[in-house]
Amino acid sequence: MGTTIKRNILLNPGPATTTDSVKMAQVVPDICPREKEFANLMKDIRTDLLKIVHADPEIFTSVLFCGSGTINIDVCLNSLLPAGKKALILNNGAYSSRAADVCRYYHLPHIDLKMDVYSPVDMALYKRTIEENPDIAIVYVTHHETGTGILNPIREIGAIAHSRDAILIADTTASLGMIPLDLDSDNVDFCMASAQKGLMAMAGLSFIIGRKATIEASKHYPTRSYYCNLFMQYDFFERTGEMHFTPPVQTAYALRQAIDEYFNEGEEAKFNRHRRVYEAIAKGVAELGLKEAIKPEFQSGLVVSVRYPECNEWDFNKVHDYLYERGFTIYPGKIDGADTFRLCALGAIDTPDIEAFFTTLREAFSHFGINLTAAQQK
Ligand SMILES: *Cc1c(COP(=O)(O)O)cnc(C)c1O
Repeated sequence: MGTTIKRNILLNPGPATTTDSVKMAQVVPDICPREKEFANLMKDIRTDLLKIVHADPEIFTSVLFCGSGTINIDVCLNSLLPAGKKALILNNGAYSSRAADVCRYYHLPHIDLKMDVYSPVDMALYKRTIEENPDIAIVYVTHHETGTGILNPIREIGAIAHSRDAILIADTTASLGMIPLDLDSDNVDFCMASAQKGLMAMAGLSFIIGRKATIEASKHYPTRSYYCNLFMQYDFFERTGEMHFTPPVQTAYALRQAIDEYFNEGEEAKFNRHRRVYEAIAKGVAELGLKEAIKPEFQSGLVVSVRYPECNEWDFNKVHDYLYERGFTIYPGKIDGADTFRLCALGAIDTPDIEAFFTTLREAFSHFGINLTAAQQK
C-alpha cells in the first residue's frame, strides 16, 4: 500500500503499540455486520479467545461487547449478582476501586474491602470477611492491578471463593494474553479483557469469558442494565452469531489479525518477551538512580511504577512532552497520595525499543538539568 506509519513506543498501560499488519487489517471493504461472512469472523474470534485462556468450550463461552475494558466490569457485576446476595470487592488498587464504583452506581449490595495498595490481597482479611458474610455470591479481584503493577494470587483467591459457593470474577484486562492463564486450574469463573491490551489490537472491542451455566442461570437474576446485560448479549450471539447491536466492524478485523499473531508468537515466547522488556525497564530505571514504588516480589512483570525523583528540576509533563515528541509515551501513576509514573511492558515492543527509550530519557534529563546523583547527595 506504500504508506508508512510512524512507529510510536507506548509505555502507557494500554492501548499498546501494535504491529503494522494489525493496523492495516482494519482497512477492509465495507461490509454489513449482519452478513454471514462477518458472523463467521465473530465466531472464530469467540472460539480463539477460549483457546487463549485454555477454557473448555463445553463449559465456558466468550461474549463480546463494543466498548473499552470498563464495560466488562460493568457487565459482570450488574448481570451476575443474584437477588438477595452480595459482591465482595477485594480492593487493592485503582481498578478494583472502579469495580466498587460500579456497585455503587447500580446500588448493588456489596462489600468494598479496601486494602493496602502497595501489596497483594490480604488473604487473612479476605478469608475472615467471606466467612462472616455467607451471602457473598461474587468475589471480585483485579488480577494484575495496572495502577501499581501488583499481581494478585487469583488461584488461591478462587479456591476460597469456591469453598464458600461464591464465583470468582477476575479482571484480567492487563494480564490476559501476556501472563499465561488457565481458567479451570486458576479457579476463575469469569475473566475479561479488551482487544487493545495483551492481544495488541485496537480499542473498542472487549470480551468476557465465563461459565455458560452461570450465564444461563443469570437469566433469572434481577436485570439492572439493558445495553450491558450479559445474558442478553450471550443469548443473541448463541441464536444469531451476531452482537446484539452494531459491533465495531473494523476493530474486529484487527483483533482477528492480532489473534493470529498471538498464536504465531506463542504463549510462552510472548510471556518471555514481555518479561525481558520489563527487566530492561527495571534495569534502566535503577541505572538512572530512579526508585520503584512497589517491591519486586509483588510485581506482575508488566508495569514498573517509578517514584518522582526528589530533584527540583524534575517535571513530569516536561519530560513526557520531550519523550512524546520523539515517539515515546510515558504515563502518570495511579496511586493516591504518591507521585509516581509508569513504564509498561505491554505491546509489540522489545528490548531495543527500551534501550532507545532510555537513551532519549537520558537526553531529556541532561536537557532539563535533572541530575539524580547530585540530588541524592544533598
Ligand atoms: C485498562 C484496564 C481496564 C479497562 O480500562 P478502560 O479505560 O475502560 O480501557 C480495566 N481493568 C484493568 C486492570 C485495566 O488495566
